[in-house]
Amino acid sequence: MSSEPTPTSVYVHFPWCARKCPYCDFATEPIRTQELPHDAYADAVLRELDARAADLRGRELKSIFFGGGTPSLWRPDALGRALEAITNGFDQVHGELEVTVECNPSSLTHDNVALLRDAGVDRLSIGVQSLRDPHLRFLGRLHDSKRAVAALKEATSEMPRVSVDLMFGMPGQTLEELGDDIARIVDAGVRHVSAYALTIEEKTMFGSLHRAGKLRVAPEEQYAELFEHAERCFADLGWRHYEVSNYAAEGEESRHNLHYWRGGAYVGLGAAAVGCLDQGPGRAERWRNDPNPQRYVAQDTLGTEVEKLGPEEIVREALMLGLRTIDGMNLVATETRAGRDPKAGREREIQRAIEQGNVVEVGDWLRVPIERWLKLDGIVRDLF
Ligand code: SF4
Repeated sequence: MSSEPTPTSVYVHFPWCARKCPYCDFATEPIRTQELPHDAYADAVLRELDARAADLRGRELKSIFFGGGTPSLWRPDALGRALEAITNGFDQVHGELEVTVECNPSSLTHDNVALLRDAGVDRLSIGVQSLRDPHLRFLGRLHDSKRAVAALKEATSEMPRVSVDLMFGMPGQTLEELGDDIARIVDAGVRHVSAYALTIEEKTMFGSLHRAGKLRVAPEEQYAELFEHAERCFADLGWRHYEVSNYAAEGEESRHNLHYWRGGAYVGLGAAAVGCLDQGPGRAERWRNDPNPQRYVAQDTLGTEVEKLGPEEIVREALMLGLRTIDGMNLVATETRAGRDPKAGREREIQRAIEQGNVVEVGDWLRVPIERWLKLDGIVRDLF
């Protein structure tokens, strides 16, 4: 490892939610809030951090992201204990450390926001999904639009940076409804939005209903229209569409996610968390923790699945993640990480993609033009 500290992010997974949403295939379990093991989970995360102490040497902490699940259900002092230990676990901490916590409107109160702020959190990412009650009911969410707007106000009045998750593609959703949601979210002082298409995942309640022909879904072309409409709305606001699903006002991009999309090193802590650390050119190690929260809390060992990545896997990761962003994949940085020219072995595929207008190469960057983002998955697949 070089003498310059390697910028590294930390992801902490909180594996519980007050209720499982019918479309969600994240590693999360429903739990009665009074049964949450707040302190035991913080203890387990600290134990894991301790066990990974040697991996953190020579690294600079760049960002921390508490995701889930619903980490806003975690008592702020317990979350704060994990946050403090993570910060202390690194040799160096970036001057502009970004600390994000994912929240749900139903478990966000003004007091909670203030306590998270005091603990060192500077950014909230709120799972609003929609500001229309029929769509929220369809998605099985615990909040209604009134609670969502109130949560946004509580969050923006106390937290320097607030992001919102928005979903599109619910059956019957109109362009006007989506545009109106965006306008109201921006009005509440939010400066970053992640807009995701509703997808029917196999191992979810929606997946079962869909297989049984009992779920109404939006036609394919409605997704494309809504995606393009969201893009127009944010362009009118002067926001940047900086990643397929992410929009930001100037300077409000998620530093944590950008680090990840650019192939940066990250440590994953908590049940089901995934981490990936560089181990020199052409070598990296990715791990996935035991997804069972009870086992994760109970065990002393890490109990992880470990996968060694070589040059080709590192290049594929870089293509898959980098091409999602407006800047694209940096060829020089990828070569440094992979220990070889990322174009080697796929020259013909890249040339064909360039001729088709699916990819452009400008200086050190390979990127997919924004007009082709609706076909991104196929374009990336062709480069594999
Ligand atoms: S609140 Fe979020 S993480 Fe939890 S079940 Fe719903 S969508 Fe999944």
